[in-house]
Amino acid sequence: MIAMVDCNSFYASCEQVFRPDLWGKPVVVLSNNDGCVIAANKEAKQLTHIPMFEAVYKIKHILEKNKVTFFSSNYTLYGEMSQRVMNILGTFSPNVEVYSIDEAFLDVDGMAHLDLRAYGFRIKEKIFRYTGLPVGVGIAPTKVLAKLANRLAKKQEGHDQVYIMDTEEKRLAALQWAKIGDIWGIGRNHVRRLNAIGIYKAIDFVKLPLAWVRKEMTVVGERLWRELRGEPCLEFTTVPKPKKAIGTAKSFGQKLPDLERIEEACAYYISEVAEVLRAQKSCATYVQVFIVTNYHSKVDKQYSKSKTVKMPIPTNDTFALISEARKALHHIYKPGYRYKKVGVNLTGIIPQEYVQGNLFQQLPETSKKELIRTFDRLNIKFGKSSVASGMIGTRIEEWELIKRERSPRYTTQWRELLKIGRSG
Ligand SMILES: [Mg+2]
Repeated sequence: MIAMVDCNSFYASCEQVFRPDLWGKPVVVLSNNDGCVIAANKEAKQLTHIPMFEAVYKIKHILEKNKVTFFSSNYTLYGEMSQRVMNILGTFSPNVEVYSIDEAFLDVDGMAHLDLRAYGFRIKEKIFRYTGLPVGVGIAPTKVLAKLANRLAKKQEGHDQVYIMDTEEKRLAALQWAKIGDIWGIGRNHVRRLNAIGIYKAIDFVKLPLAWVRKEMTVVGERLWRELRGEPCLEFTTVPKPKKAIGTAKSFGQKLPDLERIEEACAYYISEVAEVLRAQKSCATYVQVFIVTNYHSKVDKQYSKSKTVKMPIPTNDTFALISEARKALHHIYKPGYRYKKVGVNLTGIIPQEYVQGNLFQQLPETSKKELIRTFDRLNIKFGKSSVASGMIGTRIEEWELIKRERSPRYTTQWRELLKIGRSG
């Protein structure tokens, strides 16, 4: 059996954990630059029927009228809360597949002797007690059915967020209940085509001949069809694949014409991705830099360009990477444009122990490695960017994303810990 654990309205719930005054109240989270709504809790959805991904300026009056609290996205907080949830799940099963920031599959084979419903409740209660986050738990014979069980746990009355699909009758009832579009992995195009031949419910889909499914929906559809019939086809991947590329690109808070500030942003992003690289003990062979103007703008001249450079030897040294990225940026930058975004990408990623020097390039000396290590230690202890390359400059607020309503980074910054008491 497989369990699917999914946090309820994850981003909004993370915000609410630290704001008891907002429990039971409508909350939404906005995208980068506060452009549109990317997450809403149950209360917000019920109250205002806010369409997801709607531009904020269009619905601001609705949010305000309904006393909806809105937050800029705080990915530092969400990422760290997610890590906590996944760590707790690791205490329930040796095989956990982290599927997304707020979802994971657990292999619960060999636990058939347990009362699975009680087990599901223990997961739900432990996560809530340790993190304050509400989750739903679905347990079923296959991944696709576990996803469906999770949906039932949340959407059907009376399950209290835990649903165990452990009999044939329950499986059939679930398929009878689920619309074809509710099935994990069936996209809008397939829904349209299935509807066109009179298939609306999951139960009708599994009754289709396999030959039809294979022909019309390829092997992907066939796997879904088999999984829904209780035959496991999707493998369990518990070891995350090392990332092939690490990159970041963010829009500036305002359009930037001058090279200097773009350089600073570029250096900042390089130091962020280099940190990720070091955390996973790997090195990058190539660094790519790109710049773009705002192609939505009708008045600005448009330009975009990218350049990839090969590092002399693969590295995760922030300073070496910044220096190459800077050269690349100088190469592609053209004055006279108002740039919207700069991005960096590190590729050719290899484990750091495979890095070799060559005849012309020596491996970095130990003293340099020690410097970087100290750098990381200081930043962990005193907070992000406590020490940074001088290239980053001191004018971050001039180009950084607008995050007006961002909540404190409660779990990762000493200075932003939750405060309770009169002084507030
Ligand atoms: Mg979720």
